[in-house]
Amino acid sequence: MAADTVRIMCPNLTCRKVLAVPGNARGKTVRCKNCGTNIRVPAVNANGDGHAKSSAPAA
Ligand SMILES: [Zn+2]
Repeated sequence: MAADTVRIMCPNLTCRKVLAVPGNARGKTVRCKNCGTNIRVPAVNANGDGHAKSSAPAA
């Protein structure tokens, strides 16, 4: 688990830049280097990397 990178999208609708932050930034707040918005890095990878949860959103 060396190259653990978390990809998050900037919530700023006029920016929406995808930021790649190191895994050790989980649970912390990073700053978008494009627009300066503070973004909370999710502590758990929600991009299908898990295997236990099989609950799909009912939307
Ligand atoms: Zn941004």
